[in-house]
Amino acid sequence: MTELAPILERAKKIIERGWHKGSYVNSDGGYCIVGALGMAYTDGRMYDYVPSNFKGPLEDHLADFGWTCQASDCSFKLRGEVCQHLPHFNDDPNTTKEMVLALFDKALADS
Ligand SMILES: [Zn+2]
Repeated sequence: MTELAPILERAKKIIERGWHKGSYVNSDGGYCIVGALGMAYTDGRMYDYVPSNFKGPLEDHLADFGWTCQASDCSFKLRGEVCQHLPHFNDDPNTTKEMVLALFDKALADS
């Protein structure tokens, strides 16, 4: 079982070097939250593979930002659920890199 904290630390460093909205990675080497987690988890081999137990600690803190999902096609909202979808938070027009780094800090404080 891979430990949580080192993965979160590595993903945070990846985000510090370059953060990106809209896809896993861009041509400048910027990663979204999930892309950074994937790279951290797979030692840089895959950006699109993250076991859900590594997402949960971040998802748990989305409400701390008073964030509500604005995505018009959000399947969670359509089902009447509170969206905790990391890509929707990452890609939200109001989400900043500082918020994403703070989200990692909050998850790290729990781990
Ligand atoms: Zn959503």
